[in-house]
Amino acid sequence: MTFWFKSSLGNHVLRDHAGMGGICALVFAYFMGPLPAIAFWLTTLLVDVDHYLQFLVYGRLRHWSLPKFLNFHLYLFENVRGNDKFLTVHVFHTVEFFTFATAACVLLDAPLLWGCLAGLLTHLVTDFWHLKRYGIYGRRANSYIEYFRRFNSLKNAGIDADAPFRDSIKNLESLYP
Ligand SMILES: [Zn+2]
Repeated sequence: MTFWFKSSLGNHVLRDHAGMGGICALVFAYFMGPLPAIAFWLTTLLVDVDHYLQFLVYGRLRHWSLPKFLNFHLYLFENVRGNDKFLTVHVFHTVEFFTFATAACVLLDAPLLWGCLAGLLTHLVTDFWHLKRYGIYGRRANSYIEYFRRFNSLKNAGIDADAPFRDSIKNLESLYP
């Protein structure tokens, strides 16, 4: 597990989301009070739960453990950097989900929800900075409309956009037989 904390992924989660998100949450607490600030900070961390959902889906619910999950994404991350045909989508990182969350905030107008929305926005901005830094910003579709459009154009070019995910599952099954 030690190597994970030293990896770009570990740095990103701990430094960017937990650390920088925590500092933003303190500023947020000053203006909005402690509970919305806690909601803000927890959201900046929990948005990435969709990466775990993606791992469950591609693993067809055969794999659940944290080390396998981390291995799944580290393999993809290594793959992403050299592969400009790589395409992914994460449900909580889409325009559709952001629109839904904004609508819920406007309709229900609860401070805790506004805290969550601000946390989501902070997470997305932080991810943008992280992905730009590694030159992989374009690899993740920002909406499902974009994802299916790109998925189909890759398919028309003879590229199976799901293949790297299946390869990653095969790789972890060889490491954890
Ligand atoms: Zn993220």
